[in-house]
Amino acid sequence: MATLEIHDLHVSVEAENGAREILKGVDLTVKQGETHAIMGPNGSGKSTLAYSLAGHPKYTITRGTVTLDGEDVLEMSVDERARAGVFLAMQYPVEVPGVSVSNFLRTSATAIRGEAPKLRTWVKEVKSAMEQLQMDPAFAERNVNEGFSGGEKKRHEILQLELLKPKIAILDETDSGLDVDALRQVSEGVNRVRATGEVGTLLITHYTRILRYIKPDFVHVFSEGRIAESGGAELADKLEAEGYESYSTKGGATA
Ligand code: ADP
Ligand code: MG
Ligand code: MG
Repeated sequence: MATLEIHDLHVSVEAENGAREILKGVDLTVKQGETHAIMGPNGSGKSTLAYSLAGHPKYTITRGTVTLDGEDVLEMSVDERARAGVFLAMQYPVEVPGVSVSNFLRTSATAIRGEAPKLRTWVKEVKSAMEQLQMDPAFAERNVNEGFSGGEKKRHEILQLELLKPKIAILDETDSGLDVDALRQVSEGVNRVRATGEVGTLLITHYTRILRYIKPDFVHVFSEGRIAESGGAELADKLEAEGYESYSTKGGATA
């Protein structure tokens, strides 16, 4: 069972007036098969956590450790992290001009599996994954994220998730900007991958609505760069009713 362990993670970004600490001591353990929801207000550092785990060069780790089955993730390059089984679906996926979805997926799968997938089975795999996500086959020939609608971008992220079969999947606001049908299809995709029992999922979200479709095993409230509270799925109901205000040190509800 793969285990991602984050211990006392501190992360800074370079701002105009010097380095600014965004993550202030995050502790979290995610095991294959588990689904963890990370919820928190805008600006609390959720995306910073996601990028830091994926190895984005803009984020400097100033303290703490991240390991995958005891291996030091922070020492790995972005590619090595992907090969080790860490997958990030970004909040704002980037365009890859001149590269079709089909080529992008095959190149990614080849890099991660260490060999090119056999063409015939691969074509079937892609076709069936696209059908399940109710994606038009013509989509495979479009350039990655070029002119994609919000829903198409998110479906494309889930398509990657289904085909690349990571050990740890970090999904950053995969629910944002989706209409109800797209939200359901995307959630069903996540649940299919989850049902294999082979992925540990970090589901980052601002709203509780996706948790009606994807029932988390654990919920963590993120506030001001750290986890302020952890609990089971019931914690999401409390957040839905009460919001995040009571977690803030600046002007909390009763402060
Ligand atoms: P969330 O995803 O929870 O909305 P973010 O991780 O995007 O939060 O941002 C947390 C804080 O860090 C915000 O105040 C944001 O402005 C700042 N921040 C994040 N990334 C950068 C960056 N690359 N450069 C400067 N500031 C950043
Ligand atoms: Mg945000
Ligand atoms: Mg974010």
